[in-house]
Amino acid sequence: MGKTDWKLRTKLVHDGSRRSQYGEVSEAMFLTQGFVYETAEAAEQRFIEIGSDEFIYARYGNPTTRMFEDRMASILGFEDAFACASGMAAVNGALMSLLKAGDHVVSSRALFGSCLYILEDVLGRFGVEITLVDGTDLAAWDAAIRDDTALVFLESISNPTLEVIDLKHVCDVAHAKGALVVVDDAMATPIFSYAQACGADLAVISTTKHVDGQGRVLGGIIAGTRDVIRGPVEAYMKHSGGAMSPFHAWVQLKSLETLDLRVRQQSGTALAICEVLDGHPKLNAVRFPTHVAHPQYELAKSQGESAGTVLTIDVKGGKDACFKFLNALDIFTISNNFADAKSIATHPATTTHARLPQEQKDTLGITPGLVRLSAGLEDAGDLIADLLAALETV
Ligand SMILES: *Cc1c(COP(=O)(O)O)cnc(C)c1O
Repeated sequence: MGKTDWKLRTKLVHDGSRRSQYGEVSEAMFLTQGFVYETAEAAEQRFIEIGSDEFIYARYGNPTTRMFEDRMASILGFEDAFACASGMAAVNGALMSLLKAGDHVVSSRALFGSCLYILEDVLGRFGVEITLVDGTDLAAWDAAIRDDTALVFLESISNPTLEVIDLKHVCDVAHAKGALVVVDDAMATPIFSYAQACGADLAVISTTKHVDGQGRVLGGIIAGTRDVIRGPVEAYMKHSGGAMSPFHAWVQLKSLETLDLRVRQQSGTALAICEVLDGHPKLNAVRFPTHVAHPQYELAKSQGESAGTVLTIDVKGGKDACFKFLNALDIFTISNNFADAKSIATHPATTTHARLPQEQKDTLGITPGLVRLSAGLEDAGDLIADLLAALETV
């Protein structure tokens, strides 16, 4: 059976593995910055042309990091990938390597705060023109993408409001105008990612989230065609210093072995929580893209089997009631990460999205009662009991 026939679970365990002369079973961690050349001529040759099993410096590439890149590219369905120090190094790297002064970019408005900072503050300073649209409004995308648009950026499922974007439609409109599509797929998870299938040119994923999945290390990946990844992306990343640490690549390679099991379990728990909390008298709303109560349920279902591991609830009674609920939780920890094995509750309005002006919070639907819940690996019944007991105190 050829590698290309491998199913996802097999790829997650084996793809991209390289063995050293010792024949180790578990992937080796090459915690080395540099590499030795037998002769001066060999060094000269390696700087002229670098072979697929050769390395120069860990900022450019490293055997452990390369295993991680190859496995990530394979599971996301892209030809190649570059591993970055964090999800934001990946977002910044993808955009900075592909854009120049004077370019026009269209992006959905509902973005992770740091992504919005890169687009508006950083790229804006270098003369890139940004048009922000309501990502759920197809006509808004059609009107905003122009003949001279260079790139379209979006989060396939937005953080924290869980808006779903019709990715196939946006890719078709962008490609008709010759624009590249870069998808931030952090919320969708690598397991349920549909970026490549819908025609996106690049997927960027914070591997800090589900890939590590255990709250330990930062990481990010940029996946795309070999020409783009080993062309402008690698050139920008290797010279600007955003490469992933080999230690983090090793931790996350081992995490990939269990990614499918963890994500499916956590996603099932998120759905089970929605089913119990939907219609609860203390809540205004419960949202999870692949739960029927979500306004874009049909679209979400048509794009992916399930929609990540994060749901939102809107607690009645504003900030005070919401804080009372949060403080009464026993198993859910109050934190701002998501996708951890430990279930996490986040209050976006006062933490991750506190910096946004009130008007923008209103437009995005970041209400005082909104809580982002990341379903972990604990027993689903225990988590539901924890949420119900905390709601009783409100
Ligand atoms: C977390 C996140 C990022 C940034 O990832 P880091 O690994 O924290 O740098 C970018 N985009 C989205 C949608 C995220 O959720």
